[in-house]
Formats: sequence, C-alpha cells, structure tokens
Amino acid sequence: MKYFSRRKFLTDLGIGLGASAAVTTLPSFIMPSGSVRQYDGKKLNIALCGLGIYAGHLANGLTDSVYCRLAGIVTGTPAKAEKWKAQYNIPAANIYNYQNFDEIAGNKDIDLVYIVLPNSMHKEYVLRAAKAGKHVITEKPMATSAKDCEAMIKACAEAHVQLAVGYRLHYEPYNMEMKRLGQEKVFGQVRLMETSLGYKVDDPKQWRLRKAMSGGGPLMNIGIYCLQASRYIMGEEPVAVTAQFNPPFDKSWFTEVEASITWQLGFPSGAVCNSTSSYNANIDRLYASAENGFFELAPAISYGPFKGRTSKGELNFPEINQQAAQMDGIGKLLLANQPLPSHISGEEGLKDLRIMEAIYASANTGKKISLV
Ligand code: NAD
Repeated sequence: MKYFSRRKFLTDLGIGLGASAAVTTLPSFIMPSGSVRQYDGKKLNIALCGLGIYAGHLANGLTDSVYCRLAGIVTGTPAKAEKWKAQYNIPAANIYNYQNFDEIAGNKDIDLVYIVLPNSMHKEYVLRAAKAGKHVITEKPMATSAKDCEAMIKACAEAHVQLAVGYRLHYEPYNMEMKRLGQEKVFGQVRLMETSLGYKVDDPKQWRLRKAMSGGGPLMNIGIYCLQASRYIMGEEPVAVTAQFNPPFDKSWFTEVEASITWQLGFPSGAVCNSTSSYNANIDRLYASAENGFFELAPAISYGPFKGRTSKGELNFPEINQQAAQMDGIGKLLLANQPLPSHISGEEGLKDLRIMEAIYASANTGKKISLV
C-alpha cells in the first residue's frame, strides 16, 4: 500500500519482536501487498462535513486511501468551498452548506458523511446524515453526552445506515500491538497501566474551552484516547472510577472546563489504570505492567511517529498514514455491505461517554463511582 513500504515493513518486523510473533498480530488492513494499490473497483464516496484543522488531515488521508475518495464537502464558509473545490477537484454539485445539507439525500454520488465539527454539533449532523440515508462517521468524542449518543445510534439504526466513530488508533499498528499484548496476555495478566495525554493550550478563545461546544475539557478532547487505550489493552470494561481535577496554570482560561484531570479505573480482573489528560502539560504515553513484563509507547497517541518497547526489546512497526488506514479499514467493509466492527461503532462511542460522565461525576463529588 502507498502508506508504507512493504519491504521496509517486513524488515522492520524482524527487529525486536521476532517476525513470526509480530506477523500474527497484524490487522488485515495492513497485510495486503502493494498489489492492493491496483484496486480499480468502486470507491466509497465521502463528504467531509466541517472543514477545520482535522478535516485537512482526513483529506490528506483520503488522497492516500485505496478504497475511499473525497467526493464532497459541507462548509459554512464560501471561500473554503472554493479553495477545497479547486484543491481536491470536487464537483460543484457535491458542495453543501449547513442550510442546504439535507439535499444530500438526493445525491447518489455521496455514500458517507464524515462529521468533523465541534463536539456539540456531532449529534445534529449525524441525525441529518442518517435521515438523508448516508452512512456516517463522526469524530471523537461521539457527542457531548451519553444521552445524545443513544439518540444517534437509534437514528442510524432506524435509517438502516452504519455509524462509526473516528477512532483512528484502531487502525494503527503500535496501538494494536498494545491491544494484542494486553488481551492475549503475552506478558501474563496486566496488573497496572498508566495512560496519559496532554498538551499546553495556546488560544484561550478556542471552542474547546467553551463547555457548550466541547462538552468538557481535555478529558473529552484527548482523555478519551487514554480511556480507550486502557479498555483495548484490557479487553474488559471498567467497574469503578475515582477522579480528581488538577489546578489550572491560568484560572482565567479555564472558567468553563477543567484544565487537567486525573482518574483511576478498576477492571474486573483486578487491574488498575491511572490516567491524566491535561491542557497544562505535554505528555503522550501508554504503559502496562503485567505479571511477566511490561510494554509501553511514548509517543503513543498523537499523529506519530510512535516509539514502543517491551521488557523483551524495541517494537518497530511502520509509520503509516493513520487517516488513510482508518478510511480503508472502514471503506473496504462498507463497499462489501458488511457490518463495521463493534470496536469503532456508535456503541463503542456510547461506552466512552458513559465512563467519561462517571469520571466527571467522581471528580465533582469526590466519590468513587460504580460502573456496574
Ligand atoms: P476546528 O476548530 O479546526 O474545526 C471545526 C470546524 O467546524 C471549522 O471548519 C469551523 O468553521 C466549523 N464550524 C461550524 N460551525 C461552527 C461553530 N458554531 N463553532 C466553531 N466551529 C464551527 O476543529 P478540529 O480540530 O478540526 O476538530 C473537529 C472535530 O474533530 C472535533 O470533534 C475533534 O474532537 C475532532 N478531532 C479528531 C482528531 C483525531 O485525531 N481523530 C484530531 C483533531 C480533532
């Protein structure tokens, strides 16, 4: 595939882990050889809804995708429409604004709408896309409340369209190796995890600091990845949570959402995970200590390149275009009319929102919250 060299990939596999052990871990989306580039069947036609920073990453991923193509856009800014139309060769008939978006129902040239708007807008546009009969991917967090997630799942089921959340790391080799090492108990039972992601915010006016748009602070925006990692490393659902807010570096910036939050999850097997998501500090790591060894990534969650090791040595996987891999994983299944896997589904997004609501409840009350 275009997003990495297969020869380099196979060479890399021999380093550290041992080729045979590693090959069995590879998800099918990265197994095909370069011949997959010759795919000339119908591509999944995608419209990006919201043309901000992350939509740019997705457009780049779609350019690199084998099974999907950028076919349309939805934007409230005419100048952006012109720029994207020219840059990605988008037909005028496939360009919508937020007012005429529902007309997409009659457009056979669009198969799926990918919602890349601020968090509070995900629900409305998922519902409108579903009503228009289009499959939908919505960015993370799926919504700003579990209740909204439930409504989104119901709307997509009733419209007989598939709903996915943009969990790109489910298509990323280092993270999927963490999942395998944990769930297959390669180093025995995982006992203790630390998963953290933080960066220093530099713009006090951004929507991420407005609770009505974001639903919350760093937990909603980036803590969700730490939560996801602990859940996919364990393959279990947490049973209880405690959480604490940490002090902001500048109180005037954080009048509506937390600046930093730390939480502890307990899992049915007895494993615990301590996580922090923060707008106060730079951190990007996953660590798991198991009965017979450890495994870790740092950087772990950002756009990479990632670095990983276990108690047996370095991990060395290819650096991929994460968005292209995600789009191909999803596109291949939708083109074949197959169901999307549950680990990127609306139900998965709902599970995360329920746990994040419990994390906030614990931090606000100082109490341990049961999740069972
Ligand atoms: P952004 O601020 O760069 O873009 C938001 C877009 O929404 C802009 O084009 C803006 O014009 C449009 N918009 C429409 N109505 C708006 C309104 N009322 N207020 C503000 N913007 C409005 O944000 P982003 O970083 O692209 O994030 C968009 C979504 O993507 C979020 O849900 C975010 O969590 C998610 N995201 C995901 C990843 C990932 O790695 N999966 C990375 C970044 C962002």
